[in-house]
Amino acid sequence: MSAFSTLHESVSGIAREFSLGTSLHQDGAAVRLNPSETFGSHALSWRAIASQLESSAANAFEAFVRSGTPMDKSVANRVGEVVLRWAQSLGATHYAHWFQPITGQPAEKHDAFMTLQPGPNGDMIGVDELKGSLLLQGEPDASSFPSGGLRATHTARGYTVWDPRTPLFVRDEANARTLLIPCAFVSYTGHALDHKTPLLRALSALDKAATRFLGLVTGKAAGHVTATLGAEQEYFLIDRAHFMARPDLVMTGRTLMGNVPERNQQLEDHYFGPIRARVQAFMVDAERELYRLGVPVKTRHCEVAPGQFELAPVFEEASVSCDHNVLTMDVLVRVAERHGLACLLHEKPFAGINGSGKHNNWSMSTDAGENLLDPGHNEAEQLRFMAVLAAVLRAVHQHADALRVTIASPGNDHRLGANEAPPSIISAYLGEAIDAMATAAETGAPITRKVGELLAISDRLKVQLDATDRNRTAPFAFTGNKFEFRAVGSSDNCAWPMTVLNTAVAQAMNELSDRLERSLKAGDRRSAVLEVVKEAIAESRSARFEGNGYSEEWVEEAARRGLPNLRNTPAALAVLEKAESTRFLTDLGVLSADEVHSRFEIHAERYLKKLDIEAATLIDMARRLVVPALESQIGQTGGAIALMQAANVRRERAATRFARLADVFDRVLLGIDDLEKARESAHELSKVTDILVPAMASLRSACDEAETIVGAATWPMPTYRDLLFPAR
Ligand code: ADP
Ligand code: MG
Repeated sequence: MSAFSTLHESVSGIAREFSLGTSLHQDGAAVRLNPSETFGSHALSWRAIASQLESSAANAFEAFVRSGTPMDKSVANRVGEVVLRWAQSLGATHYAHWFQPITGQPAEKHDAFMTLQPGPNGDMIGVDELKGSLLLQGEPDASSFPSGGLRATHTARGYTVWDPRTPLFVRDEANARTLLIPCAFVSYTGHALDHKTPLLRALSALDKAATRFLGLVTGKAAGHVTATLGAEQEYFLIDRAHFMARPDLVMTGRTLMGNVPERNQQLEDHYFGPIRARVQAFMVDAERELYRLGVPVKTRHCEVAPGQFELAPVFEEASVSCDHNVLTMDVLVRVAERHGLACLLHEKPFAGINGSGKHNNWSMSTDAGENLLDPGHNEAEQLRFMAVLAAVLRAVHQHADALRVTIASPGNDHRLGANEAPPSIISAYLGEAIDAMATAAETGAPITRKVGELLAISDRLKVQLDATDRNRTAPFAFTGNKFEFRAVGSSDNCAWPMTVLNTAVAQAMNELSDRLERSLKAGDRRSAVLEVVKEAIAESRSARFEGNGYSEEWVEEAARRGLPNLRNTPAALAVLEKAESTRFLTDLGVLSADEVHSRFEIHAERYLKKLDIEAATLIDMARRLVVPALESQIGQTGGAIALMQAANVRRERAATRFARLADVFDRVLLGIDDLEKARESAHELSKVTDILVPAMASLRSACDEAETIVGAATWPMPTYRDLLFPAR
């Protein structure tokens, strides 16, 4: 039986079990299915396609996948046929190129497979087809996507180009099944208009640099090297009815007013707490959908804040994993809707309690599957590890500012530097064991690796300790055999931080390779490598920090060390306008100078627009919800005082209450006026942070006070207390 028909068999088995469609989400029996049985049932890899092709076509197709060699039209059409047959077997009727413009959302335009052909009697009849050319590339009008000046509106042509390394997938949603084709998106001039294109270029740069570097370090030719990524996704769940009743959540993804409830996260009982039935029902459905789409979800748990949760996948090759994270966010939002919930991916949906991040677990791997950040078990492996570590530290040290830009967003501005997320200073944490190895390398002492000890819990119960503890306050932390870029925002597309990180490492490897090439001429390999490692680790020492990244002392210490501390999005975006900070991206062919500039334009514009939408929404809520609520309350309280007066009873305290209501009412009205004025003048980045953000904070504070003195029955929107406990 061919791989394809096996796939087919198991798919129809699953289809029977699930009776694909809405019953999938209610069928209790389906819950018991083992994830490994359904994994990838609705995804099609390039290898699965190749296995369906005759050998010459398979070879041509493989050359296309591996090195971009164009396929003959006939081969491309055969590939199209295989894909069509598979998609139809799953009930797909339409296909769409699925790509990632810089909008924060994936994009897709659906076309039916159906086309018209003359039938036997000359009438036109409908037939299904997927021509190779339609699979390989599409031509959406690029003029309505952000380009940051990369093209003028009258030169609108753009191309979506199939990236066969991410499996195709069939989405089953409501009444439609659709084949989605993962694509890159470029302009007619070849400029990257998306997140994927620069990442693919960065991965090529890394591959070249790392194979050269490893060759020099080990004296053996290395195969290909790629980056690996596993992105832990945090999110909030709230009741959908509550979501719909909050204009701020609907319009901006976060609450613009609201007081932290009496009980929030101070009891520390939500993190890893029991998963309540309603939430678990959602999680299992979302996971089941992700398994079918070939996304290897592994972990689910409750996070620190009430109503906050996390999902983590098994790591994959970085570009696939980035696509899969975009898909994961999409599935979480869709499945939540079916469960009467809303999934909030915003970095800071609620002021005063923890926000959400997306730890990017990152490493590099050879095509033989060797993890380059594995500290190693013998001298040769350890030497290779030290060389790779030296390059990574160099990358973080040299490109801290560029790394900081990739995590800059209005949402993340509420987290970075506040006491819950790694600070906006980019430093690397190694942990005691690896830090000791780095220090030994720097001083020329023998490099030995501390191993974890056995800790006795009691006479009978012992635990094997890791060699090092963890540091939750470091933005870039070593965790055993990978680094964790912890400062990425929960709604971010991982491709942008992964592009810059991998390019920075590629550049560092290139520079260390140059040095190695020179010193290899003079001496033996081991001492040449040790010398280069020593130098590189010493040079990047200021980027290493083992202490508490949340402390004020670190902010001062980092300033003394000359490390950049870019506190908000406008400050971070300015880096994109400094040629010396972005030259490594242009040098390695990852982004041209105008593509870099376009990223500045796009992100600056998005920042201005998002903040303006927030300000406008806040004004609207204050004016049409808070003001009338205060008016009602003032009327009620005034009426009560009049009655008390008529009855001749004590009313001093009531009068104080009335005065406070009047005061808050005045502050809300004043806050609205001030924020309107601020909106009018905040058309550039610095004015937004200096004028608009403080004006929003003042109005919010008046509204938050109003919430505390207006009766619960009169307050016109769900409060944080209502929002944060969706499962009770
Ligand atoms: P930790 O205990 O450090 O949180 P886990 O094993 O739970 O580590 O993994 C957390 C995430 O890191 C998962 O998504 C996992 O797949 C990913 N991960 C593990 N090893 C690697 C690696 N070599 N490269 C990239 N990601 C990895
Ligand atoms: Mg976590």
